[in-house]
Amino acid sequence: MRRESLLVLVLTRRCDRRCGFCPQEFSDADMAPDVLDAAISGLLPRLAARPRVKLFGGEPMLRPDLVARALDAVSRAAPRAVVELSTHGGALAAGPGPLAGRARLEVFASRPIPAAARLPGAVLNILLAPGESVVATVARVARGRAAGFRRFNFLPAYFTRWSAGELARLRERFAATRRILERLAERGDLVEVVNLCRASSTPLYNDGLVVDCDGEVYSSNVMLAAAVAPRKAELRLGHIGEPLEKAACATSADVVARSVPSDVLAATFAADALLSEFCRNMDAANLGRRAAGEAGAC
Ligand code: SF4
Repeated sequence: MRRESLLVLVLTRRCDRRCGFCPQEFSDADMAPDVLDAAISGLLPRLAARPRVKLFGGEPMLRPDLVARALDAVSRAAPRAVVELSTHGGALAAGPGPLAGRARLEVFASRPIPAAARLPGAVLNILLAPGESVVATVARVARGRAAGFRRFNFLPAYFTRWSAGELARLRERFAATRRILERLAERGDLVEVVNLCRASSTPLYNDGLVVDCDGEVYSSNVMLAAAVAPRKAELRLGHIGEPLEKAACATSADVVARSVPSDVLAATFAADALLSEFCRNMDAANLGRRAAGEAGAC
């Protein structure tokens, strides 16, 4: 039996933002409620003892009804499961909606909205696209902390072109970020860098059981990337309600290597290497990890 620990539910392929650096392929598709129910009841029992469920998109908060349905169904089927929700955060300005009172939920928001920071397990995604100055990056981290976020996840723009100059500036942006986190720590204001607890075979995306809006099941959510979509059949495991293949025809890393232009891939790995360097430096300075025993600690 397959024992992955991650189930990704693609609740919608829609997004009301079109960030220039976003690698996703969009459409008008939403997941039907019966597909969502079948995915949770059929696939969650296949996962390891402490599963993670990722509510993904597009922008999942465009369908708060599906978010609520998924959270209710997961808490009934696997009370120990941790649920992650990735959102740009726009909907949270009006309040937490279906996210209120969910103890095992981690919300990854991309905007420093105080209402989002008050959610348990809230994480601020700091998206690092080419073209931003060192000062602007540091200011965004400071705004996030001022909004109340204590957990940060740094995401360089992947599957896009970075010039050598922009990569050099990204290293400076990371160095300046480390300095601001050191200054906070000197004042006793410890924050967590969530990246220190995460690893993936493909930058940005995750291996696991991934259910698309139409009920098709894949081995990685990298099939959502526009560059990879023409080869997504190589990552297909089957359809919910049917027996799944034990493994896809190819690994996500292999499909990415054959789908993404070599210069874009090289830039992606270079940006990812700078993120790894930042994480190593944080670890060496004994910064960025939550204390053992705290919720979310690795
Ligand atoms: S990065 Fe997020 S908010 Fe921006 S277009 Fe992509 S899915 Fe939408």
